[in-house]
Amino acid sequence: MEVSFHEEIKALQLGDGEVFHGEGILAVTKALLQSGVTYVGGYQGSPISHLLDVMVQARPYLNTLGVHVEACTNESSAAAMLAASIMYPVRGAVTWKSVVGTNVASDALSNLASPGVMGGALIVVGEDYGEGASVIQERTHAFAMKSALWLLDPRPNLPTIVRMVEHAFELSEASNTPVMMGLRIRTCHVQGSFVASDNQAPHISSVKLQQTASGFHYDRLAHPPATFKHEKLKYDVRMPAARRYIEAAQLNEFFEGPLSQLGLVVQGGLYNTLIRSLQQLGLADADGNSQLPLMVLNVVYPLVPEQITRFCEGKQAVLVLEEGQPEFIEQDIATHLLRTGSTTRLEGKNCFVMGGEYNAEVMVKGLVSFLTQHAPHTLAPQGSAYSQSLATLRQNAVTALGGGVPPRPPNFCTGCPERPVFAALKLVEQQVGKLHISADIGCHSFATFEPFSFGNSILGYGMSMASSAAVKNFSSQRPVAIMGDGGFWHNGLLSGVSSTLLNQGDGVLVIMKNGYTSATGTQDTVSSPASESKRVAQGNSATVNEMTIERTLEGMGVKWLRTVHNYRVAQVRDALQEAITSPFKGLKVVVAEGECQLERQRRLKPMRAKQLAQGLRTVRTKYGVDDETCTGDHSCIRLSGCPTLTVKPSRDPLKTNPVAHVTDGCVGCGLCGEVTDAAVLCPSFHKIEIIQNPSWWDRLCDHINRWVIQRLQAA
Ligand code: SF4
Ligand code: SF4
Repeated sequence: MEVSFHEEIKALQLGDGEVFHGEGILAVTKALLQSGVTYVGGYQGSPISHLLDVMVQARPYLNTLGVHVEACTNESSAAAMLAASIMYPVRGAVTWKSVVGTNVASDALSNLASPGVMGGALIVVGEDYGEGASVIQERTHAFAMKSALWLLDPRPNLPTIVRMVEHAFELSEASNTPVMMGLRIRTCHVQGSFVASDNQAPHISSVKLQQTASGFHYDRLAHPPATFKHEKLKYDVRMPAARRYIEAAQLNEFFEGPLSQLGLVVQGGLYNTLIRSLQQLGLADADGNSQLPLMVLNVVYPLVPEQITRFCEGKQAVLVLEEGQPEFIEQDIATHLLRTGSTTRLEGKNCFVMGGEYNAEVMVKGLVSFLTQHAPHTLAPQGSAYSQSLATLRQNAVTALGGGVPPRPPNFCTGCPERPVFAALKLVEQQVGKLHISADIGCHSFATFEPFSFGNSILGYGMSMASSAAVKNFSSQRPVAIMGDGGFWHNGLLSGVSSTLLNQGDGVLVIMKNGYTSATGTQDTVSSPASESKRVAQGNSATVNEMTIERTLEGMGVKWLRTVHNYRVAQVRDALQEAITSPFKGLKVVVAEGECQLERQRRLKPMRAKQLAQGLRTVRTKYGVDDETCTGDHSCIRLSGCPTLTVKPSRDPLKTNPVAHVTDGCVGCGLCGEVTDAAVLCPSFHKIEIIQNPSWWDRLCDHINRWVIQRLQAA
């Protein structure tokens, strides 16, 4: 990974009384060190990647504290790391993106939750839900409930976040239960400050070794008959202990308000949006003081029944603001109020939509619905007209723009090495007909959008090969499974390749070998090229031996294997077509090799800048379209989809169509030239070399070129 976290690592080393400034996820990272963790692990993903990325780069500093950091190959191995806290009094934290990562980790989580833990165990999950989400519309809450793990959802405010991390370990130890902390996108990226404490060197660590292995305790194994005892412990002992701790440590927050006959119960992570919405309705001031009493659930599971009773007591109605579905918290509170014979009216999802993000607009609507029923006099006219004024604003924008803004789907980066493979696949389809494509998670899933529109299913990270297992047996045409190297090492090697080999499946697998887990921020995989940062992280000055995908596949017995260079579109096309039509029965793998352009540009840019600063000759390549030759049929655009390959009006009055045009963002990957060649399109593309600090030879060539061109033009 070429990104440097130098400043973040400095922030992690702040001592007692110093002020930390930064975003929420880095505050969590700092709070882990203040809590004396012995180990940290995880698998990257939005919105928590930063935690692990910074920790991995901070290894030299963490080594001085004795904190071990592990970049796990998937969430399952991260969850299994927490086993260390079952038998040893050590604190540990792992992280991943939920809910997908929690699905992957759930086997280990179930078996961890059953025996429980001795040392504090914290699972920091990126609750990637809502408008910015990139995964399934499910909630981590369900996992917390089914396994009896406690779930925190801190108010997006740095001192609160840090306090919750520190208390999470105490809560875990007080109730012998692992604790999850769900961090929403906005919580991870909220900016703020807090007064730091010193980092705590753990009492058992990589520099203070445990001298004896723990004793044997059958009761600590997730194995019957111990599991029957665990079930009783979970609900008879651990949950009451957790509730006592939550109450005593005041983890949930209560804010008074003059409209005391009403109340709002809100998930901690929604607090900022709620206050903003109340401000829109004139029911909160700029300092966040609300007219309505608030119960802010920094712990969303388990709820503390006594707190619910106290908050609802004497109130006419209470509204639960709970994002996502189903409404677990609302049902929990409703059951409690029913059992205690409370007369307080409970409102919740009946005032809101069941699914989707609770942004300010949704919240205002829900609050208006609640207040209209229970306190219409509190609604100022401008408040109840809020939704109408938003609709008017939208309409005004549409009128001003002359129509709605066209959808702008995400796309591969400019020069991405995966784009040529899909251009080649389009050419293959022209020969063999429509293919069934099993898509996967990763940058290559951008090919599901225009102009490629490839993908008949996405079943999970590294699952493409497995998801073509049945299809290939009833299809006359071989389906193609596409997977990245990130997905291959995460899961695809076992669930796809191994399973296909076991069943002697006749499938086609394309592995995008771009060198990194690019979609989550270009983290290293086991087969990443050896980089400087990797060598530093591993404390190794020698070049790291690469473990290649090809060698792994050969070792497993894959007999049909081709490695192609992505930017040679004709070569990729031929290899794909051969795999699809070959008489060879068995797994056929095409490894499509081309380094992630994002990572490549991050490396090249500083090198170029350094060369320029030293006055050295520097060459940048870009491509161009000769607009006199371009016919304006745009087949190159349809085959490549490069964002810098666009259109502009033709200078020729006889051409009515706009001509193709390459903007200055071109990184010179060469795909457009290759595509025109492989697809036998027009010859309008040309390569341009922009030379800075030219040599005498460059200048001489330039003079000769100009002279020849002038003579030819004159002739
Ligand atoms: S991050 Fe890398 S692999 Fe992903 S789209 Fe960009 S260039 Fe392609
Ligand atoms: S315009 Fe062509 S050469 Fe330039 S980045 Fe796009 S595909 Fe590559």
